[in-house]
Amino acid sequence: MRIDIITLFPEMCEAVMSESIIGRARAKGAIEINCHQLRDFAFDKHKRVDDTTYGGGMGMLMKAEPIALCFEDICEKTGSRPHFIYMSPKGSTLTQEKLRELSQLDNITILCGHYEGVDQRLIDEYVDEEISIGDYVLTGGELPALVLADSLSRLVPGVLSDDICFSDESHFDGLLEYPQYTKPAVWRDREVPEVLLSGHHANIEKWRREKSLEETRLRRPDLYEKYISQQDEG
Ligand code: SAM
Repeated sequence: MRIDIITLFPEMCEAVMSESIIGRARAKGAIEINCHQLRDFAFDKHKRVDDTTYGGGMGMLMKAEPIALCFEDICEKTGSRPHFIYMSPKGSTLTQEKLRELSQLDNITILCGHYEGVDQRLIDEYVDEEISIGDYVLTGGELPALVLADSLSRLVPGVLSDDICFSDESHFDGLLEYPQYTKPAVWRDREVPEVLLSGHHANIEKWRREKSLEETRLRRPDLYEKYISQQDEG
């Protein structure tokens, strides 16, 4: 998969995407991530990427043309038209289900907004979907874009050491993960549940399954109800 990020702060995105698991995955070629400086596509006299809003208002808005030129450049470089996502608090909330759907694509471009956002005509002309990371507002789209790029990358084959790493986690099958423990077996008088020390794989699996259902029922009754009704239908 190739992910292109259009941003006013490529160094910020590059810094995060160069570390740890994603950094290593990029280095070994399991995933390609490119961060583009939007200002490089501002060709007017003042090289402006933003301007005042029609109708009045305090904030500035990102201009359509530099974003269009940057996206067209990415299309030319990839030899395709990537799925174009604008990170926006008005978008549909990101879920694991959406990530699974997006992970089937080869090319994705993510636009980070700033100021008051982006000229609506750019969105109407180019954007395939708007995605939000939650019902709150950040100052810019970089953190949301990084959340999307990170959570998406880990679903790409070869990024994690083993596919079980993502299939055995919260939200993969609609449930939250069971509690986990590491050494020592007793920490400040708190003991690891005995079954996990037993070496009996079937019992461990059964315990994890029950805990997973219990955690979901207690913490996220909405997810639990959805999971149970899907099981009943299936
Ligand atoms: N005026 C916009 C509104 O009320 O919907 C908010 C603009 S916000 C200050 C600036 C940029 O941050 C947005 O264009 C978007 O790219 C990003 N952003 C802020 N909150 C976000 C969220 N919850 N999810 C995704 N992107 C977000």
